[in-house]
Amino acid sequence: MTRRPSGQPEFLVIGGGIAGMLAARRAARRGVRVLLVEATDQLGGMIRSAQLGGLTIDIGAEAFATRGGAFAALLEELGMLDGVVEPRALGSWVVTDETAAPMPAGGMLGIPGEAALLDDEARAAVHAAIGDEGIAELERDRELAPEIGADAVDLEALVLARMGPVVLGRLVAPVTRGVYSLDPAELDHRVLLPALAERIREHGSLAGAVAALRRNAPPGAAVRTVDGGMHLVVARLGHDLEELGVEIRLGTRVVSAAEVSVSDLPAPDGSTAGGATAGREYWRVVLEHGEPLVVPRILSTIELPAPGLAGASAPGGAAPVPAEVVALLVRAPQLDQYPRGTGVLVGEPSTSIRAKALTHVTAKWAWQQAAAGEGMHVLRLSYGPERPGGAEPLTHGLDDDQLKALACTDAGRLLGTAISDDDDVVAVARHVWRIPAPAARLGRAEALKEARDGAKSAEGFALAGTWIDGTGLASVVPGVLRAVDELFPEDAQA
Ligand SMILES: Cc1cc2nc3c(=O)[nH]c(=O)nc-3n(C[C@H](O)[C@H](O)[C@H](O)COP(=O)(O)OP(=O)(O)OC[C@H]3O[C@@H](n4cnc5c(N)ncnc54)[C@H](O)[C@@H]3O)c2cc1C
Repeated sequence: MTRRPSGQPEFLVIGGGIAGMLAARRAARRGVRVLLVEATDQLGGMIRSAQLGGLTIDIGAEAFATRGGAFAALLEELGMLDGVVEPRALGSWVVTDETAAPMPAGGMLGIPGEAALLDDEARAAVHAAIGDEGIAELERDRELAPEIGADAVDLEALVLARMGPVVLGRLVAPVTRGVYSLDPAELDHRVLLPALAERIREHGSLAGAVAALRRNAPPGAAVRTVDGGMHLVVARLGHDLEELGVEIRLGTRVVSAAEVSVSDLPAPDGSTAGGATAGREYWRVVLEHGEPLVVPRILSTIELPAPGLAGASAPGGAAPVPAEVVALLVRAPQLDQYPRGTGVLVGEPSTSIRAKALTHVTAKWAWQQAAAGEGMHVLRLSYGPERPGGAEPLTHGLDDDQLKALACTDAGRLLGTAISDDDDVVAVARHVWRIPAPAARLGRAEALKEARDGAKSAEGFALAGTWIDGTGLASVVPGVLRAVDELFPEDAQA
């Protein structure tokens, strides 16, 4: 790799999460002079490590989906493929105030496929989770005319129209809260599973439609991680950026970006800003502190008010979803048998449990168990807002001791064994996330489409990252690579 000589940046990347880091790396490898600006004091965004009693853990993303192969291809490029590890195949559980059962296989978004009625083993597994009442709801779905629920937009309305409150509360809501931090009533099923309505018409039931979608789903729904944690990928990318001579400005918050003509730019000394050439359009990027930047090309990995770009500031369901992740290191040999598999989702009713999900990290990842040692366990709990749409996680305002007590109570209920905050807990780590609203949130898809259309019609401007490309690294990585190739088309084949 060769270092670029210094000079005016040709390409400004906004946001130093994995999307911004990959964009900067890809462009810099093609000889482009890149400036990466990041609001916080560290790179990595939602891939972030935390110290937990001498262990280093992931407190943000802890895995990647193998779907599409883009993340594995990146790891191969980084020479990190050898470190890829699988989770233990222990399955997860769903727990309510009164019940605890393994999460049945064969569904989508928690909605059971029709095997739950046709196959004895599948039926027993689903019955353990939703009981007679829930099975009756599945039978109702099979008897209803296919057009029932056809006008439902949100996932809750669809599941209630065809199945009922038990399937919704015990299977579907736990999954949507765990994956998207949103209730089924906040999610547009037409965005989540675009073919669902058509399959219901074809197969006559929601469970039949789910089974058909599962049959046709591309293989590779599996997840993997990197031995030692996902934060190692960010560390490696940071090292590459340094080698490539990418200029990085931490603690630099971008406020807005607008297209400007070179002739509009003040140039009291007679020079043109940013090495600009007359006749070209440039981007003027306003920072919270300091002089604005003027560059020919920008890529934003955050939702940015950009005057002149239709939709880039459109509000539709845009408020981020808050979540606090709490990690506990506990001395608890009673967990050595991994009583609830790799983790637990929370179903309804759950008045006695405040968390929305728990990952038994040392059960899921053998490398983390080896690092923690025998009898020691890492548990990761996540907390959403008190009510849908709330701006803060329900743990907001709790001090570390209060949070530890709450997390231990919840962990005990979810794992079916008492965990004492005084005697068992060795260390606690916490982090609050503000997760961009997913495209499937009601009203959001239209706003994102507008933003995409606006970016397409603007020269030298691209959007990438989780807020526009979707939740998870399997969507983010190919999205940002595509965006860089579109911005630098002459190099796309390099
Ligand atoms: C708790 C948690 C668990 C997750 N688990 C998984 C998982 O297991 N598997 C998976 O695939 N995905 C997971 N994800 C999602 C995954 O982490 C994200 O999809 C991905 O990391 C997003 O990368 P990004 O670069 O698009 O966004 P981000 O990582 O959010 O990066 C955006 C960056 O922009 C910076 N920024 C924001 N505003 C400004 C501004 N005005 N000016 C300058 N900089 C700014 C931010 O500080 C941030 O560093 C998880 C996310 C969370 C929160």
